[in-house]
Amino acid sequence: MILKTQGLSKSYGKIRALDGLDLEIREGEIIGILGPNGSGKTTTLALVLGVIFPTEGTFEWFGGNEENFNKRLGTILETPNFYEYMSGMDNLKIIQQIKNKPGQDLEELAEMVGLSDRIHTKVKTYSLGMKQRLAIAGAMVGDPDVLIFDEPTNGLDPQGIADVRNLIIDISKTGKTIIMASHILAEVEKICTHTVILQKGQLLTSGPVKTILRETNAYLLEAEDTEALKNCLKSMEGYIDSHEEEGGLLVNFDENINASHINTHCNKKGIVLSKLFKKESSLEDAFIEMVNNHKRDGQNQ
Ligand code: ATP
Repeated sequence: MILKTQGLSKSYGKIRALDGLDLEIREGEIIGILGPNGSGKTTTLALVLGVIFPTEGTFEWFGGNEENFNKRLGTILETPNFYEYMSGMDNLKIIQQIKNKPGQDLEELAEMVGLSDRIHTKVKTYSLGMKQRLAIAGAMVGDPDVLIFDEPTNGLDPQGIADVRNLIIDISKTGKTIIMASHILAEVEKICTHTVILQKGQLLTSGPVKTILRETNAYLLEAEDTEALKNCLKSMEGYIDSHEEEGGLLVNFDENINASHINTHCNKKGIVLSKLFKKESSLEDAFIEMVNNHKRDGQNQ
């Protein structure tokens, strides 16, 4: 086990920034701690890094057997500060001295983060995306087992975002465990293997991204007569349910049903479809649904 938290909580006066978080992170996972602003993501990272102290609860790195667990962690918590008038390489060398972990090939590291062309030029000439890649290289100095990033793509342009996302995936392939906080659902969906969803300091859900996404097989359909369309679908094998929404009738089917099955069935029943789209399910839908369920559960108690 890489990290385990039990009942981890943090209060600032009346503000319950984190409320009883139970979490288990295993080796090689890319964990996305996901939640809206103020949901407790940064608080979680700061707690497990020992930057702030819990009000209640405990956490344990590497099975609790490491006194100096910090040495096995590489982090970027805020926008990193570099010596702008020095080269990227000289900055990495300074980090290497501070961490007191000599021997790592820094040119190789620069190559890994895609900075080998520019690593010997001054940081002040770098784009924001390049600075972020340098920060990731800095976090990797000393070859830590776990990398921790808070909103790693914040402020970057689309190319910078894509570069950093790909870099994180590449780094994870080298066997490192990655924990990142993000408020961007699509980001977690694209990068992470697992997610921990927070809302108002509480755990909404956690697990593999694929499970939480819960693959659905939904189609958006439209025909001139919606009622006739509904009735026709009800007699179709594999039909589950439907509801009207903007742009048509959203219909859930069993997983073995595809667009041509639907089209053929409607044709046979004399219904002409003017629209037939597969609706991609997204973490966003899952997230909104979870928040709504959570609210409903709260109201029913
Ligand atoms: P963001 O994406 O906006 O950074 P977050 O999910 O990281 O949000 P946190 O920064 O962990 O959320 O904040 C959780 C809650 O704790 C918020 O209500 C925040 O205002 C509050 N909070 C955080 N730090 C402090 C502090 N030092 N003093 C008082 N309240 C704080």
